[in-house]
Amino acid sequence: MSATAAIATVAVQVVTDKKKRNFVLKIVLIIIMIVLLLIFLIVIIVAALFETFFPKDNNLLENKYYQAKEAIKQEYDIPNDLDISYLQYIDLASTDSLSEDVEAIKKKIASYYLKTEVIKTEVDGEPIEEKITFFKSLTDITTMVSKPPFSLSESDASFLLTIPTLSDDVPLLGNYPMPVKGNITSPYGYRVDPVFGLTSEFHRGIDIGAKWHDKVISIADGEVYKVNYNKSSWGNYVIIKHDTRDGMFYSLSAHLSSIIVQPGEVIKKGQVIGFEGGDQRYDPNPGNTTGHHLHFEIWKNSNSNSTMNPLKIISK
Ligand SMILES: [Zn+2]
Repeated sequence: MSATAAIATVAVQVVTDKKKRNFVLKIVLIIIMIVLLLIFLIVIIVAALFETFFPKDNNLLENKYYQAKEAIKQEYDIPNDLDISYLQYIDLASTDSLSEDVEAIKKKIASYYLKTEVIKTEVDGEPIEEKITFFKSLTDITTMVSKPPFSLSESDASFLLTIPTLSDDVPLLGNYPMPVKGNITSPYGYRVDPVFGLTSEFHRGIDIGAKWHDKVISIADGEVYKVNYNKSSWGNYVIIKHDTRDGMFYSLSAHLSSIIVQPGEVIKKGQVIGFEGGDQRYDPNPGNTTGHHLHFEIWKNSNSNSTMNPLKIISK
């Protein structure tokens, strides 16, 4: 009997014999499953090897945008910061693909996002000219990205203004006093929630550990924009609008035990606006605190999302 005939005989038996047919079907199913499992394993192994040899660009130091930004900051001696995700966003909006080359990104940042201003000051009666280079203001950029070569609509671009970590575009020089005497107990930026200890939240201001009920002053000339209280967060608070030589900004002082200024009142730099507080047991309207302190914010405009690091403008 030839091999072909033998196979044919077996095939006929399989087709006609129910038991044999079921057995073969089971074997075929098991083989299919093993093959699928092997394919799955191979895909996983190849993906893992690919990750090892071609790691993703998620390390900050290896991020091209970070490198370009740092290089620019060094080259132009820029003390302020610009969010990288935002740079990538603008890059993507202008070209539909992200730049590959650090040098190319640097060029782009320098041509679009920098401007230089000469600030004239006087020291002991001697006029001094200081050249300061900094990133264009966010308002400039949102206007810019809604025009060619960018393709963002004005409303799409306006969301950039609400990102709290964006560059501090106000060229302030750290020549404002602390609003109250004390140490910084919690800095500006991401931190662990001091009350619940669970989530990482963005701290929109600085906390200053002061003497209980010490005087809180206005850091610059201005006008009282708002006096109010908020049970769940700021307690008693004051917002002052400052229109200074360095530009316009707002300051917020929160958890005050008492406030001695009124909305619309014109305020001088150094004037007492209220008293520190926030003790849950003894102070009225303490707000969300673990103990008495001053929570202090600087806003670039009247939008509470436009915060910047107060330490950029006040000197410790
Ligand atoms: Zn705070």
